[in-house]
Amino acid sequence: MSSDSGSTARLVLLGPPGAGKGTQAARLAERLGVPAISTGDIFRANIKGGTELGRTAQEYTARGELVPDEVTNAMVRDRLAQPDAAQGFLLDGYPRNTAQVGELDAILGADGRALDAALEITADADVVVERLLKRAEIEGRADDTEPVIRRRLDVYAEQTAPVSGLYAERDLLVRVDGIGEVDEVTDRLLAALASQVG
Ligand code: ADP
Repeated sequence: MSSDSGSTARLVLLGPPGAGKGTQAARLAERLGVPAISTGDIFRANIKGGTELGRTAQEYTARGELVPDEVTNAMVRDRLAQPDAAQGFLLDGYPRNTAQVGELDAILGADGRALDAALEITADADVVVERLLKRAEIEGRADDTEPVIRRRLDVYAEQTAPVSGLYAERDLLVRVDGIGEVDEVTDRLLAALASQVG
């Protein structure tokens, strides 16, 4: 933890599509007593609910492209202003490009808050494609078709991979191998986090 943050945990979870971020985010958030905030889940809820935000998001998510920053940033800003995020949060799926890193700094900095760590779940491209295609059969997510999965992986490599480098420069990055049983990966994440934040 940063010295002034007491028992807070302000975390971001990074990693390619299919690395298991959603699964691990829910488990970590419960263990840490902070809300898991997934931009992908918020977009999907809005698409399902037929909101204006959902209509905009659908145009992009269906193609595997990022939703425009002004839309995503405003949504995250609102969510982080909710009372349950005051003592910490685990962001899953944000920031997803370097501009969003700057926006998150601005959102937190305005209230004197700062991130404690950026956890990255690593997994090979072969493994993630296989997992996503399997998930497509089970969950039927509209963006889990092979061409859209390939686009999401390209977008990840081009736009999201550089985010890890920025956090590494700030000594906030903690990398964890995402291959293995779900419980094992959770334990690795908790252990890595404990060593990072003391
Ligand atoms: P995955 O990590 O498996 O690609 P997500 O549920 O995190 O799935 O995201 C699904 C889609 O939602 C993305 O492909 C993108 O279109 C959109 N999205 C999620 N987070 C962001 C973000 N921070 N910025 C822009 N678009 C986003």
